[in-house]
Amino acid sequence: MGEQAYQRLMDRVRDTAVVQSIGWLLSWDQETNMPAAGASHRGRQLALVAGLVHERLTASVTKDLLAEVEAAPWLQDAPPHARANVAETRRVHERLTRVPRTLVEEVARTVPVAQHAWASARRASDFALFRPHLEKMVALKRDEARAIAGSGGDPYDALMDEFEPGARIAEVAPFLDALVDGLAPAVLAISKQGNPPLPWEGRRFPVERQRVVCGALPAAIGLSPQGSRLDVSAHPFCQRIGVGDLRITTRYDEADPRGAYFGVLHEAGHALYEQGLDPAHDGTPCGEARSLAVHESQSRLWENLVGRGRPWWRHHYPTLRAVFPEALHDVELEAFYRAINRVAPSFIRVEADEVTYNLHIAVRVRLERAIITGALAVADLPGAWNDEYRRALGLTPPDDARGCLQDVHWSCGAFGYFATYALGNVYGAQLMEAARAALPSLDDEIASGSTASLLAWLVSKVHRRGASARGARIVEDATGYAPDAAAFLRYIKQKYGPLYGF
Ligand code: ZN
Repeated sequence: MGEQAYQRLMDRVRDTAVVQSIGWLLSWDQETNMPAAGASHRGRQLALVAGLVHERLTASVTKDLLAEVEAAPWLQDAPPHARANVAETRRVHERLTRVPRTLVEEVARTVPVAQHAWASARRASDFALFRPHLEKMVALKRDEARAIAGSGGDPYDALMDEFEPGARIAEVAPFLDALVDGLAPAVLAISKQGNPPLPWEGRRFPVERQRVVCGALPAAIGLSPQGSRLDVSAHPFCQRIGVGDLRITTRYDEADPRGAYFGVLHEAGHALYEQGLDPAHDGTPCGEARSLAVHESQSRLWENLVGRGRPWWRHHYPTLRAVFPEALHDVELEAFYRAINRVAPSFIRVEADEVTYNLHIAVRVRLERAIITGALAVADLPGAWNDEYRRALGLTPPDDARGCLQDVHWSCGAFGYFATYALGNVYGAQLMEAARAALPSLDDEIASGSTASLLAWLVSKVHRRGASARGARIVEDATGYAPDAAAFLRYIKQKYGPLYGF
């Protein structure tokens, strides 16, 4: 009996995943191809999809099937993946049931319009253009947070839980503090020392050649060319549509190839995670990516721990130099390595180096938490943002485009998302340390152009676990200890200590 109910429940979950994937395709199109005037209609399409997903997962038939499976003796002896699928379906069902469908649809409808307003406001560097849209979005997300958290829960936790199930601000805040405090000596030493100009300053990297170099990167680290594609968008991202259909994007800058190159490695790292999920469990929680922090651990690992490392460039630099002789003919490997690993406090998060990146995150987590709890009014955000940047990075943003308007997240209603970037940085460093211990010749392999054994290790330790456990648990099982900011701080000290003398 229980097994039949389980199969019917999973059929429903799988079909819902297909409906959801239609929304993903719409979102990908919105970022890559859609004309700007299509935002309002796209909002209606996405609202319908979000409403259908919500309706299917909260319907009484889902509720009854869940109850039947959970009560069946069959479940006690069922395979672990079945038990994990039931537990995860229950978690999602409970969460969604607390939010009325009308609110889900209202948020989905608001996103493309708010995002459009945000993009215009950023172009004009005028927060006033975005403010009413952000106020509306904050009001909606507060309603959502209160509905999920109930009377006793923390509304901010309720929002974080969407991106990192199980994350609690009471644990995340001290984690971020440990990270920021631990990085302080490095940031201080580096700020005092400063940086020489980029060795390719004023030279050109023709975009058509960057396209060729970047186009080869995903396959070089193991992404299937038949199962993925690379496009251009204003904000690089990775979107899984389904098995065999992974979409990544990047953007090119003729004066500096770093953004496109490391952006592609980053997004391809996300795509490798999706590619590594077990297709046997497709459409069910065990065949889904766990969370955004685990996702970011994979992207940052490929972008930074592999892609900005010496072994990688021992293999790849001669090729890059041959492709861009005008820009790099007199730039030796060591000078290039230092240039791609230069550290300097800056205004823009997405351009931040590995050392200061988490400081940008800590600022955002503090501010968005204050916005959700009501301690900070949306109208006061620009001033509060600039105060935080002065304190955290010693910089005052010259305008809102380089201040509180730089990130797309809040316009999409993604409050509670930012902490996953910092968690992901730590998870990534911790996983790489464990991979190096498990694979003693890893650096030699990377230096000879192969990352196959690293990918195989990640697939078995992280990707194949799907959403069968919490993100922190997956990291703990893979590395032998619970996520710890010290792993990231060790990495920073080892890599940047010799470069900057601390
Ligand atoms: Zn990412």
